[in-house]
Amino acid sequence: MRVDQSSQHPSLSIFIRIDSASPADVTMLQSPVLIIGAGTWGASTALHLARRGYTNVTVLDAYQQPSAISAGNDVNKIVSFTDQCKADPPAEDDPNFVNKTFFAALTKGFQHDPVFKPYFHNVGNITSAFSPGGLKHIGRRDRGSGIVELNDTEDFRKAFPSGILTGPLPGWKGYWKKTGAGWVHARNALVSAITEAQRLGVTFIGGDPEGKVVRLLFSSSNGSQDVIGAETADGKQHLASKVILAAGANADQFLDFKKQLRPTAWTLAHIRMSPEEAKAYRNLPVLFNADQGFFMEPDEDKHELKICDEHPGYCNWIVSPDGERRSVPFARHQIPLESAERIRGLLKATMPQLADRPFSFARICWCADTVDRNFLIDYHPDYPSLLLAVGASGRGFAHIPSIGGFIVDRLEGKMNQRIADAVRWRPEQAVDRDWDDTQNRFGGDYKVMDFQKVKGWTNIQES
Ligand SMILES: Cc1cc2nc3c(=O)[nH]c(=O)nc-3n(C[C@H](O)[C@H](O)[C@H](O)COP(=O)(O)OP(=O)(O)OC[C@H]3O[C@@H](n4cnc5c(N)ncnc54)[C@H](O)[C@@H]3O)c2cc1C
Repeated sequence: MRVDQSSQHPSLSIFIRIDSASPADVTMLQSPVLIIGAGTWGASTALHLARRGYTNVTVLDAYQQPSAISAGNDVNKIVSFTDQCKADPPAEDDPNFVNKTFFAALTKGFQHDPVFKPYFHNVGNITSAFSPGGLKHIGRRDRGSGIVELNDTEDFRKAFPSGILTGPLPGWKGYWKKTGAGWVHARNALVSAITEAQRLGVTFIGGDPEGKVVRLLFSSSNGSQDVIGAETADGKQHLASKVILAAGANADQFLDFKKQLRPTAWTLAHIRMSPEEAKAYRNLPVLFNADQGFFMEPDEDKHELKICDEHPGYCNWIVSPDGERRSVPFARHQIPLESAERIRGLLKATMPQLADRPFSFARICWCADTVDRNFLIDYHPDYPSLLLAVGASGRGFAHIPSIGGFIVDRLEGKMNQRIADAVRWRPEQAVDRDWDDTQNRFGGDYKVMDFQKVKGWTNIQES
């Protein structure tokens, strides 16, 4: 059997392995694989499974695609390539092998994979800060060559077309990476991955009740246990040989992660620009400030400028019957008033001409932080057929072209050992976890915040 890849993406040479597979491989490629979550990582995994020749892949999601609560369902996300934009993996003895390997893979994906390439905007990226901690943090990064230092307000203004950065940018200092960095149209890239996976035969079941997973299905025989599928809210049981849990911030409601995941939310709002303004603000470099927030150019379709305020995140702390606190995600298309104020503060510092515009959209957006902010991609120690693909730790979108390949490598037992060690199941790190750790994030009040203590929310009427 050969799957024809040529109709939509002729430049991509992918060989479906089933042609040359052994009988054991054929069995593996035909066995049912169930993915829970069609967000950033679930969609990427589905695509990579299909490209490797898996013919029986089903993805369940509580929402129709693209999921309204996926962290990846957004107008834009920041992406930065490797230094020198090299897509080759680093040498095995490179001290930063794991991180560089992940970044080489995403660089290759956005440079060459027609499913993702059209959505990357190579406009450059300014990383900045003003607090001593924030400045130290951004200074610590490996900045590579071709980076321009920005030391005062005038330097920042010159990086932008005139008349845009009219604000005072008080105390801002930063670094401008002019190429190999920018933003990706996140929702379009997510939809592109899903569409291509569907074209290659993956089944997506979205919506409540038919796609909403309510529990994992367990088996037990001769003292050994396993996960054999998942049940959806309509009562249907989806059985599979392998189950991949990629439910993002909601993953830890399905099993005990031993405190390895902390669901944490960030906040964003949009303001609408006129078509003329959208044109004038086209191709801006991404402006990220570790102490205050970030924005990039308005999107082409709706001419909306997305602004995120930067802070260590919000949790939603609920005390469970055993006395432990748990952060429980919830969906809301509004943001706390204090966050709205911070967003206006960022605009006043940078583009005061836009600071009083009404918001046209806002949402809270959840991700799951591990203790060390490395990903968690591993088989569950007690359930041999359950693969965990979680812990994107607020930085997982950029990996959409390639993360699914690493997840499938782990599924097949082929992951490079150094990578496997870094992303392993590691509850030992989470014993006595400091839930309030800011995890090297800055901004806001420089503390992790609690939605339970929020006094008021915006009341934005979406148009
Ligand atoms: C405001 C904000 C800005 C960010 N900016 C960046 C950035 O600039 N660059 C970057 O690289 N990363 C960024 N990130 C992080 C990035 O978006 C996430 O790390 C990444 O999208 C996580 O992917 P995921 O697949 O783990 O989760 P998600 O994309 O959230 O997917 C989880 C999926 O699980 C589904 N699901 C949940 N419950 C169930 C259930 N019961 N049954 C079935 N399905 C279910 C959801 O509907 C969803 O589709 C940002 C995150 C936020 C919140």
